[in-house]
Amino acid sequence: MIPIAEPLLGREELKSVIRVIKSGWISSQGEYVKKFEEQCAHYCGKKYGVSTSSGTAALHLALAALGIGEGDDVIVPSLTFVATANAVRYTGAEPVFVDSHQEYWCINPEKIEDKITKRTKLIIPVHLYGHPCDMDPIFDIARRNNLLVVEDAAEAHGAEYRGRKIGSFGDISCFSFYGNKIITTGEGGMCLTNNKELYKRMRILRDHGMTPKKRYWYDVIGFNYRMTNLQAALGVAQLKSIDKFIDKKRKVANWYANGLKDLEKKGLVTLHPERPWAKCVYWMYSILIEDAFGINRDTVARALQENGIETRPFFYPLHILPPYRRKKEKPLPASEALGRNGLCLPSSVKLKKKTVEIICAALRNLTE
Ligand SMILES: *Cc1c(COP(=O)(O)O)cnc(C)c1O
Repeated sequence: MIPIAEPLLGREELKSVIRVIKSGWISSQGEYVKKFEEQCAHYCGKKYGVSTSSGTAALHLALAALGIGEGDDVIVPSLTFVATANAVRYTGAEPVFVDSHQEYWCINPEKIEDKITKRTKLIIPVHLYGHPCDMDPIFDIARRNNLLVVEDAAEAHGAEYRGRKIGSFGDISCFSFYGNKIITTGEGGMCLTNNKELYKRMRILRDHGMTPKKRYWYDVIGFNYRMTNLQAALGVAQLKSIDKFIDKKRKVANWYANGLKDLEKKGLVTLHPERPWAKCVYWMYSILIEDAFGINRDTVARALQENGIETRPFFYPLHILPPYRRKKEKPLPASEALGRNGLCLPSSVKLKKKTVEIICAALRNLTE
């Protein structure tokens, strides 16, 4: 079976984890947590990092620190992983779903302003499947309407928008280090910010809301969202390889693009996009199975599975899921079409060119 994703863990990871175990500092105190936070912040050109137990926790922590809560609306793309919207709901606020850009799959800036009301407080652009959002128009809208911006960068570590790293834009930016993300700590997440007040608030909320320097005194209700030293040790080791991983992701993307270009020319598939202003990191190399392909996305996935190739369908657009469905919700046609036709192909950094060629050949075979 060719897996959809696989972490690459090497000697460096082993060495630092052994070091942590020998030290006994396996919970959230210890040398690696601070180191990982500083190095992640530095990587994105932000001042402060607050590590968390997951990417979902990072999103919730960011929103809580910004004071998002009941009565607030938060703009999110409909086509994203469910955690983006769940984090909004955890605070008591409501996610308001915006359609995707048909060409590069992230939130469509032109569709945002229609959804802004007096209740709107925040936009969460999600850099989907490794492709950055179009940040300039998003920030224009945010500025004009006095909205905060939290980047969901869980799928796009190292991606760039007009030469600048994503994760460097928002009031807070959130990352995930789940096992299939660009770099991993098993489970884990990170919030980055330049704002010292937000940084301090996030650290307090992450640790049950405990007031610094006064043990067991709580002015607010917080969470246990801490990352462990063991996770951070993995993170520090992984961060040493991040540029290598991204180069490899882009190489794999190139192999796919070459292997599938005849199918693209015939209009049978659409390849993973990269806008001229974007550096995409191809978290999961993805294609759209077009109607001309002859069989639908799910049938393609089943046939590939029978050939020993694991794939993933795109996310369902969240506005159709039971917890988020509304009676008067208008259709979001781009998100719905992408959700129907999108297919993520094996994207491990361990992939060999030969294997990608086998996958492309299997896809070609289905069209004959
Ligand atoms: C993975 C992911 C998350 C959540 O991260 P976890 O670490 O799994 O909690 C949030 N948003 C997006 C877009 C993701 O892909």
